[in-house]
Amino acid sequence: MAGKIRFAPSPTGYLHEGHLLSALYVWAAAKKWGLHIHLRIEDHDRGRSRQAYVDGIREDLEWLGFEYDSFSIQSERNEIYQGVLDKLTSQGLIYPCTCSRKQLEAENPKGDTGEIIYQGKCRNLCQNIAEPHSLRFKVTDKVIQWSDYRLGDFAENPAMQCGDFPVKDREGCWTYQFAACVDDLEQEITHIVRGEDIRNSTARQIDLSQAICNAFVKPYNRPLYLHHGLIVDPTGKKLSKRELAHSIRQDKQEGISPEALLGRVLFKAGFQSVSHVTSLQDAIDKISNSF
Ligand code: GLU
Ligand code: ZN
Repeated sequence: MAGKIRFAPSPTGYLHEGHLLSALYVWAAAKKWGLHIHLRIEDHDRGRSRQAYVDGIREDLEWLGFEYDSFSIQSERNEIYQGVLDKLTSQGLIYPCTCSRKQLEAENPKGDTGEIIYQGKCRNLCQNIAEPHSLRFKVTDKVIQWSDYRLGDFAENPAMQCGDFPVKDREGCWTYQFAACVDDLEQEITHIVRGEDIRNSTARQIDLSQAICNAFVKPYNRPLYLHHGLIVDPTGKKLSKRELAHSIRQDKQEGISPEALLGRVLFKAGFQSVSHVTSLQDAIDKISNSF
């Protein structure tokens, strides 16, 4: 096959319509470009992940007819993450940060995304620290040029967007940025298709991935990126927490068919002017023709 794509939900809840739209894009890209499909459960946040959601996600994908070629779950990959962390640490690219959430908020400016831009207060702390701490990656202070298949060209400097970011949090969990980068590299992901809501992660993930490849003296083959539009409410706003909390599982229990649900998602995402019953193959084709 020409490459590999992943669908990477976090099991902190059941799948909702937003996930379903993402899945349609992933399967559409796989069909268009002939890609291997990998299902990756991103349960790096040990406090919020639940086994019931892992099982639920797999059951719901099966019920909808989404088939995949391989599977992994982050909680079984601790040694891989530790190996990469050790390597980056040996290169002087990781340091402990003892700042509390309160301090971080109070002491750092915020960028236009509302995220804080960490100013590097703890950069020179000694490595062996007993106090509670996170571990941060030293970002490269440079503009990263990258292209989105749908949205065009971007030029972004992670040092100006978020500064040095955590790879492990104070609770000892790997962060999304770190686990996702390590997995994308190690699983040889060639195509990354995900929602526009995490587009901001891309430049920092490129920087971290480049650093990891340099540390292991391996070439870095950047994946193709496509960030898709999101389901919005009729006034154009992002879905509320409550709307997003409404799960596919609830719909299923209320007796809706997969085809009716797919039709509803296509309608809400603006692909159909009315919500009509649509087969998975037709839904995938419809999305695939849109990019
Ligand atoms: N786990 C992330 C989510 O559920 C997806 C991350 C990604 O595709 O890079 O939003
Ligand atoms: Zn700090």
